[in-house]
Amino acid sequence: RVALLLCFSFSTAVLFAQVTNEVKMNRFLDSLIRLMTIDEKIGQMNQYSSDFAATGPITQDGDKQTQVRKGMIGSYLNVTGAERTRSLQEIAMQSRLKIPLLFGQDVIHGYRTIFPLPLAEAASWDMEAIERSARIAAIEASAAGIHWTFAPMVDIGRDPRWGRVMEGAGEDPFLGSLIAKARVNGFQGKGFGNTDAVLACVKHFAAYGAAVGGRDYNSVDMSPRMLYETYLPPFKAAADAGAATFMNSFNDLNGIPATGNRFLQRDILKGQWKFKGFVVSDWGSIGEMVNHGYAKDNYEAAMLAANAGSDMDMESRAYIQHLARLVKEGKVKMTVIDEAVRRILRKKYELGLFADPYKFSNIQREKQQWNNPQHLVAAKEIAAKSIVLLKNDPLPGGAGVGTLPLSKQTKKIALVGPLVKAIKEHLGFWSYDWDDDSARVPSLYQSVQNKIGSNTQLLYAKGCELTDSSRAGFAAAIDAASQSDVVVIYVGETRNMSGEAKSRSNIHLPGVQEELIKAVAATGKPVVVLVAAGRPLVFNWTAEHVSAILYTWWLGTKGADAIADVLFGDYNPSGKLPMTFPRSEGQIPIYYNHYNTGRPAKTETDFNYVSAYTDLRNSPQYPFGFGLSYTRFQYSDIQLNKSSLKPGETLTATVTVTNNGNYDGEEVVQLYIRDITGSVVRPVKELKGFKKIKVGRGESKQVQFTLTANDLRFYNDKLQYIYEPGDFTLFIGGNSRDVKEAKFELKK
Ligand code: BGC
Repeated sequence: RVALLLCFSFSTAVLFAQVTNEVKMNRFLDSLIRLMTIDEKIGQMNQYSSDFAATGPITQDGDKQTQVRKGMIGSYLNVTGAERTRSLQEIAMQSRLKIPLLFGQDVIHGYRTIFPLPLAEAASWDMEAIERSARIAAIEASAAGIHWTFAPMVDIGRDPRWGRVMEGAGEDPFLGSLIAKARVNGFQGKGFGNTDAVLACVKHFAAYGAAVGGRDYNSVDMSPRMLYETYLPPFKAAADAGAATFMNSFNDLNGIPATGNRFLQRDILKGQWKFKGFVVSDWGSIGEMVNHGYAKDNYEAAMLAANAGSDMDMESRAYIQHLARLVKEGKVKMTVIDEAVRRILRKKYELGLFADPYKFSNIQREKQQWNNPQHLVAAKEIAAKSIVLLKNDPLPGGAGVGTLPLSKQTKKIALVGPLVKAIKEHLGFWSYDWDDDSARVPSLYQSVQNKIGSNTQLLYAKGCELTDSSRAGFAAAIDAASQSDVVVIYVGETRNMSGEAKSRSNIHLPGVQEELIKAVAATGKPVVVLVAAGRPLVFNWTAEHVSAILYTWWLGTKGADAIADVLFGDYNPSGKLPMTFPRSEGQIPIYYNHYNTGRPAKTETDFNYVSAYTDLRNSPQYPFGFGLSYTRFQYSDIQLNKSSLKPGETLTATVTVTNNGNYDGEEVVQLYIRDITGSVVRPVKELKGFKKIKVGRGESKQVQFTLTANDLRFYNDKLQYIYEPGDFTLFIGGNSRDVKEAKFELKK
């Protein structure tokens, strides 16, 4: 009783404190907004990028500084550093109302310390690790004066031709939602008011990843059900996690540009989801509505965007130029402006910027975080978790032992390929180049050298360039390979081949790299291939013919060290693909949670009157959720606690996972379901749960999942989120293809 009472009075105390804070804040915002002229209000809705180069003097920004002084700019992007943010903030403090500037920046996968690409990190299926990398990014960025990061990108990506899949969490809404939440929590930390918590910006709202043909910025045409079921869940999860801001997107959705989309921004986000933060446009996306053919000119674009709920204009300059007139002419109501301004000011208030505008611009703290050794340790750990082992054939005569890990006693190792000595490439797209990177970022060559003892000899040959067609280096590569016991070939994209505006129709290994692999493999030596990329690539010959393959993406500052750890068995790989890997570009889009047709193929090569290509096997190269370990995991049959389930009851599914290989290891145990018959067709599989477990060599572990009727919900054709009684299949396995199954029924 006493405990209960105490607990009750404690929570009322917390609630009371929150309410009084909210009341206090609202009072402050009310009185501030009352003092503001219309121009000052519109100024808050205006965001500019800085004109000055990252290291030049800020005086180059002359005209903009005059505008800051007049209160015509509410936020800046691309200004970083404690000193520079401070000096601009000082100018804002000379404005009439002294409203602090908000500094936003694309801190996508790290700031000073670069972590794996978001897609790579998604392959870890490790929410704690993902949250930690976002946390560290926020600590470093906030110490450099940054208040707000334009991340996470939570767009579902089902098309690897789209270069921005590198920035998301892959193809699955369930995994994507958990990762969205982890990243928001990481960036926003223990909450605003703490100097190391930055505002997250969930982007790009919405459906940007479904661009037709995988061409960046392209149109999106999709059914409302697909939108609700597949593309919106990660956004909803991020909003529920308390994400402070959203960014809209460049694409149109069913004919209405997202930036001018009232349904998305007002009805769903601010209405149904009760989102309290603000929406920033994407770069220039308000003005681009003219190109879309949706607005006649910037004047009309400003009207459409503001009325549709875009609160801040990033670099279209449409608000600053036209909103005042639009209000005067009655085309945008003053209440629309006041609401937008309140949302923006609220975040400035929550960050504590009204109390101390220089809070984040602390040179001392910036120095402290600049070379934080713990951040580098985390960068290596998370990089290792992101690596996916795609193949590991036994060595000939190796008694079933895989080619990997390599023995540190190996006499001669050949390191071949255009990436072996690369440094900056490891940082990938959307990262920062720091002057001392060459000293901080190891090449694979250096990392391997640090691993091996004095008895191992390292041979090196570049073989070819990443994108060039010259084969002049092949002979030296073949020579190095012939002299060695094993060859490690490091190939891939350049770091700038995947990212914004980096759509590709051909996602094979660029240049002559696969030819290099063939030439080296012809020596008969065991060949280990490392593939670096920001997206799934197509490399069929390699997949079929070499001994071992590690997918290493771009892993950041300590990426090469992580690869060396995996190569030599100091880390046993545990990553699982967050996207399906196609056999050919012609299969795209290809994803595991597709619907069935009336004529499904029965076998891999069943082409007759089925929904398949006649010239390609039906399966992908690697399925969603796939990834090997140096050890072997065996799954028992699934035990269900009941064969039928009623609403309100819980179904428990149990499997035993046994490690009967030679190494301790980690496995991501995945749970999928299929709703056999529905009032609308249902995917052949849907991820509904996963657990990442550690299993020692020779050990077994029981893994349990629970499901209730609520986990079986979907959107029917009236867009009601419901479950329907009927038969289900439940699958558990180490990827979306190789699964055990059990049946159950959902009863009324
Ligand atoms: C991208 C956004 C990014 C913005 C600011 C745009 O081109 O689409 O994701 O946050 O630029 O750099």
